[in-house]
Amino acid sequence: MALPTHIDLQIVTPDRLIVQEQVDEVEVPGSEGYFGVLPGHTPMLASLAVGELWYRKGPEKFYLSIAFGFVEVLPDRVTILARLAERAEDIDVERADAARRRAEERLVHSKSDIDYERARAALSKSLMRLQVSARLPGGLRIGELKRMRDQVRG
Ligand code: ATP
Repeated sequence: MALPTHIDLQIVTPDRLIVQEQVDEVEVPGSEGYFGVLPGHTPMLASLAVGELWYRKGPEKFYLSIAFGFVEVLPDRVTILARLAERAEDIDVERADAARRRAEERLVHSKSDIDYERARAALSKSLMRLQVSARLPGGLRIGELKRMRDQVRG
């Protein structure tokens, strides 16, 4: 049987269909690390982390922020059921930056392990949204992003 030449990519969240396209390549933030998928990939199932997903159509790449859920890979199809997913152009940078600041504040003042874990998850989602929106032309500059990260680690 001939190898497939494209991938039918579908990305859905509990409230909506985010992407339904024929693409050439996808990179997925798996919970055990990022992995790339080309047409003809071996079937697999994986869980998703908080991360950046991109897909390529010809020379053009498209970026999304993704958090939690599952991915099913078949030779001609990638289906992503994500708890959260936003295209780079749909990310509200000010909202993500406000969430980042709130999460940092909570990390500093957390009183229990649960508070700490929730704040850590909120921080990684907000940083991921900022990173993904910076992929757009005219988005945040990488230097700004690095400064924010350094502040968090600092
Ligand atoms: P916030 O504190 O800013 O409300 P949150 O962590 O409570 O963020 P989530 O639970 O991560 O929000 O997401 C709730 C919904 O809002 C989801 O549909 C998500 O896609 C959307 N969302 C959250 N933050 C942003 C953002 N910065 N830009 C666009 N959509 C966002």
